[in-house]
Amino acid sequence: MTPLLESTPPPTLFRDIEVQGEEASSILRAQKDPIYGFNFGLSAYRGCSHGCAYCYVRDYPARDPKRGPGALHDPLEWGKWVAPKLNAPALLWAQRHRLHQQTVFLSSATDPYQPLEREFRLTRGCLEVLLQCPTTQVMVLTRSPLILQDVDLLKAFGPRLSVGLSIPTDDDTVRQVTEPPAPPIPSRWATLERLSKAGLHTGVAVAPLMPVHDLDAFIRRARASGATSAWVGGLHLLPKDPFLGTLAQHGWLHVLDPDYVTGIRDAFRHAFPRSERSSRTPKRGQGAHLQPPPPMVRQPGLFDAAV
Ligand code: SF4
Repeated sequence: MTPLLESTPPPTLFRDIEVQGEEASSILRAQKDPIYGFNFGLSAYRGCSHGCAYCYVRDYPARDPKRGPGALHDPLEWGKWVAPKLNAPALLWAQRHRLHQQTVFLSSATDPYQPLEREFRLTRGCLEVLLQCPTTQVMVLTRSPLILQDVDLLKAFGPRLSVGLSIPTDDDTVRQVTEPPAPPIPSRWATLERLSKAGLHTGVAVAPLMPVHDLDAFIRRARASGATSAWVGGLHLLPKDPFLGTLAQHGWLHVLDPDYVTGIRDAFRHAFPRSERSSRTPKRGQGAHLQPPPPMVRQPGLFDAAV
């Protein structure tokens, strides 16, 4: 990817986030491992202003020096810069022939409804392209109520689209430590309810699993939201991850305990039996973050398993 030399304005600031539009050379990231349940990841932005402290994607820009100027941000700067892929919808349109009977996931490396989407509408532009691909299934995962601006478009997909809200904890004070710029937990529940009431197939992504204070109430809240599926994923830490210190400082190291993950996963499985096969047990030190579960066949749902 390279910056648009002629048409791209210089970097600007958006709520203290450095914004540098760029022209992407590719938009579809193939996912060959069937366990993830999608064929292509699609991110209309590089970088993510939600800046979650545990986000392992923050290591990606530093890993790939071929990505071009502006790509080599220090992982510690994650959340402080975003590169909108200004040609994302046009690029997707040009590559739509690859999407026949495929499943596309928005987004595996950014939040498709981070605040910049209000201005750039790149996720919306990509969805408008996907709407023109009638055999393509679409899964959208976000932490943001901003998705509500596209409800009508999302509904136009019918049963071939599902939406998930990432809700890793039942406690917004935990969220304030782990995802301070991201929308509050209550607003995510409200978003989920509105999407469900709009007739969309919705799910809860309890991922990466953070401290949960009242599991029964958490599950009741998830069910009351209208979600028909749920998925629990463990935390994925980077080597020498500073987030380990955050966990230790707050007494939250138990989130790394596979038994803790399994216990909460089992409780959600019981409450959402349709999602039963959608959760997998991470090995210690591994885990899932944004990855949805195995493929859907009948009722397309973000967290539905193949039947
Ligand atoms: S919203 Fe997702 S991609 Fe963005 S910082 Fe958080 S975990 Fe990473």
